Amino acid sequence: MSNALDLTLADALSALEKKELSSVELTEAYIAQMDATRDLNAYITETPDIALDMAKASDARRAAGDVGLMEGVPVGIKDLFCTEGTRTTAGSHILENFVPTYESTVTTKLFSQGAVMLGKTNLDEFAMGSSNQTSYYGDCASPWKAADGKARTPGGSSGGSASAVAAKSALATTGTDTGGSIRQPAAFCGITGIKPTYGRCSRWGVVAFASSLDQPGCFGRTVEDNAIMLQAMAGYDPKDSTSIDRAVPDYRAQITGDIKGKKIGIPKEYRVDGMPQEIEKLWQQGMDWLRDAGAEIVDISLPLTDKALPTYYIIAPAEASSNLARYDGVRYGLRVEGADLDDMYAKTRGQGFGEEVKRRIMIGTYVLSAGYYDAYYNKARRVRKMILNEFLDVYNQVDAILTPTTPSAAFTLDDAPTDPVTMYLNDVFTVPASLAGLPGLSLPAGLSSEGLPLGLQVLGKPFEEGEVLNVASVLEAAAGFQRL
Ligand code: GLN
Repeated sequence: MSNALDLTLADALSALEKKELSSVELTEAYIAQMDATRDLNAYITETPDIALDMAKASDARRAAGDVGLMEGVPVGIKDLFCTEGTRTTAGSHILENFVPTYESTVTTKLFSQGAVMLGKTNLDEFAMGSSNQTSYYGDCASPWKAADGKARTPGGSSGGSASAVAAKSALATTGTDTGGSIRQPAAFCGITGIKPTYGRCSRWGVVAFASSLDQPGCFGRTVEDNAIMLQAMAGYDPKDSTSIDRAVPDYRAQITGDIKGKKIGIPKEYRVDGMPQEIEKLWQQGMDWLRDAGAEIVDISLPLTDKALPTYYIIAPAEASSNLARYDGVRYGLRVEGADLDDMYAKTRGQGFGEEVKRRIMIGTYVLSAGYYDAYYNKARRVRKMILNEFLDVYNQVDAILTPTTPSAAFTLDDAPTDPVTMYLNDVFTVPASLAGLPGLSLPAGLSSEGLPLGLQVLGKPFEEGEVLNVASVLEAAAGFQRL
């Protein structure tokens, strides 16, 4: 079964269906690949024994004719999703020994539809970061190497999830996207990742970063693989008050490859200063591919685009500071004893959180404090609403929007930006859709001059994940991107 690792999720499901391989065989191949690629540090916790038990149970179900949407497929779970009985760290020292007594809704859905858990993937601490370097559990690398041979970041925050899919140590993985954490790592690792509309997938049991922005989604090798996995993850959950009660369509059936007459918007504000020529060229190429397939390319304007990053970096830290108040050494995770209660809080939080998390807590506390609340937080909320309205206006004219996913290819782990603001600029193309809660997907569409993957981003109307997947499938077919 030497080529088992080359199968897409769709291929694997049909090979399992035809009894060409069993879930145990497929899972064993992935466990061996986890061993072989351990230097990438894509996993914080590997769970091979659980995986084999789940695979055996899946094979038994299949033999009994009980076949779920993800039956027998080995997946990695971002270590932000609570998994019952399996340590869930959120990439933080403060949760190093946290073993949830409950299962997140998304993982419950995946496992009840037959998915097999290989382990918990690496991420930036509490999903705060764009390079996976704020993880307490060490840097994660992308399997892609440029000619210089230097290790590249897989992106972040879902760096381990993206690296694992690219390195074939998982067939697909879950991710979460607050400001770009699925789309940017997908672009850097040459794979496909989708963040659905806010409210589409339940946040219940996902460690909270910025609750009004956090949204689960997934990574896979192909657009179709994203469609299958998202189908298994999505749906209303009464346990999440922001979950939307709306039927989940058959995403796979919506991938027809027919985009004749569709209008695709090209926002001129995404042509940012200093954008490398090769990204500009790739974007142009994407427009040509869509036009060749019968779509109409429409110039649009989203004038508030440059306000998105500053807005995000007020709202996200504000919500983070409030969400992270619960890590007090009493109820969850790490506790460092102190002389009195205040001292215990200070020591626990001082030692438990890393630098970036502390920075966000301080910014968040500041923008929420009396006297600054109106000047910063409330103003940011108003701008956010305007950004949403701007998108909704544009969606009266177009069906979807095409942009590059990131303003550059993956940077090396050694030369990663050291000042936080330069790091934040990575999210310039992904954050606006996050603020507006819109669905977005990144697919690999070409290579940089150094031979590293470059991604294109497709954004859609609220709840039109099917449209996004369909437009992306046309780009995917035209690009013919060579996976690792
Ligand atoms: N890079 C962004 C941040 O640091 C987005 C992270 C995310 O989407 N979780 O906040």
